[in-house]
Amino acid sequence: MTRLSLDSLRKTFGGTDAVRDVSIDIAPGEVVCLLGPSGCGKSTTLRIAAGVERQTAGRVLIDGEAVSDETRHDPPEKRSIGLMFQDFALFPHLRVVDNVAFGLTALPRGERRGVAAAYLARVDMSGHADKYPHELSGGEQQRVALARALAPRPQVMLMDEPFSGLDNRLRDEVRDAALSVLKAEGSAVLLVTHDPEEALRMADRIALMRGGRIEQVGAPYHIYNNPKDRAAAAFFSDLNVIHGVVRSRQTDTPFGLFLTPGLVDDADVEIVVRPQHLRIDLDEGRAPESTARTGVAAPGTVVRARFMGSESLIEVGMEHDGSILRATVPGVFTPERGRRVWLSLRREACHLFPCAAQSKVRSPYVHGDEAAIRDTA
Ligand code: ATP
Repeated sequence: MTRLSLDSLRKTFGGTDAVRDVSIDIAPGEVVCLLGPSGCGKSTTLRIAAGVERQTAGRVLIDGEAVSDETRHDPPEKRSIGLMFQDFALFPHLRVVDNVAFGLTALPRGERRGVAAAYLARVDMSGHADKYPHELSGGEQQRVALARALAPRPQVMLMDEPFSGLDNRLRDEVRDAALSVLKAEGSAVLLVTHDPEEALRMADRIALMRGGRIEQVGAPYHIYNNPKDRAAAAFFSDLNVIHGVVRSRQTDTPFGLFLTPGLVDDADVEIVVRPQHLRIDLDEGRAPESTARTGVAAPGTVVRARFMGSESLIEVGMEHDGSILRATVPGVFTPERGRRVWLSLRREACHLFPCAAQSKVRSPYVHGDEAAIRDTA
């Protein structure tokens, strides 16, 4: 079942497409995060879903019924949607409970405060019902705003960076409160964020946007581990890129051979690997045997090592080409500058892409397919 459906949306501002052919269906109780860099069209998509912006082409449907198409355009208040933005505004002259009760116009007057109190309880704000907004902290105000958005039980909740004004601890608290209530209510949620961690934490599915388009959609685990290209991979973390050239359907690297079927000789390829998927050894003898899982270890010299809290970041200048690769290791591991070390790759976490400038062919490398990997031993 689909609750919110965005169908082939396009939005043009002054001849430029801000949103191009965006389609996504969201089920009741599902949280979809629109994730992407600034200016990629996330907010415009959300504003079209809300009805505060009208699309140039395409349709918005709620429970299968068009609320906006070529002939019809329901305003936001007719769409059974809840809206929550970063710069939410509570009414300063109303007590907390009355702020939440304000939107409950569908209920008899006598029931509104009771329902508002119930939603305040769900975001853990019961003790503040009679206060005025200026008596609350930022995080508390945001939880009230959340209760206010949830209380009318919208079928669809549209959220634009709703947690970005909060400090880390509060953000986690408010996010968790929001998620549990939204899931329990069965609202379809479209949440805009530019923060990959937030998307990974909140989303059932992430829709990665770039240049007005949805480039890739998937569950957080899937999209993190199977990026469709280097840019999609780079969105979630720092990356190491190892360059190679195809010879006889293989690409040789100092870390071993990668099979690259489907690519022609002399094609440039990039092997992309996240810092946590590099292994670092202090002496060659302890480096892993050449295996299908790790390939071979390549030597380099520590350029810099820093303790970052829960992990250490080690930058290594590689002997084979002078490039710098970055490895992260849990806990404290800070070998001295100039120390010789050996790096190896966790093969199943490597992604191999043809260089974008040369080819539009997607990766022929099947992620996690050990059979597609040969070692040099
Ligand atoms: P951010 O994360 O910075 O909010 P975004 O991904 O939400 O970015 P949008 O706000 O949707 O991006 O903007 C997409 C593009 O459309 C941008 O190039 C922006 O300048 C343009 N744009 C958005 N609204 C308007 C408008 N009302 N008039 C003209 N151009 C606009």
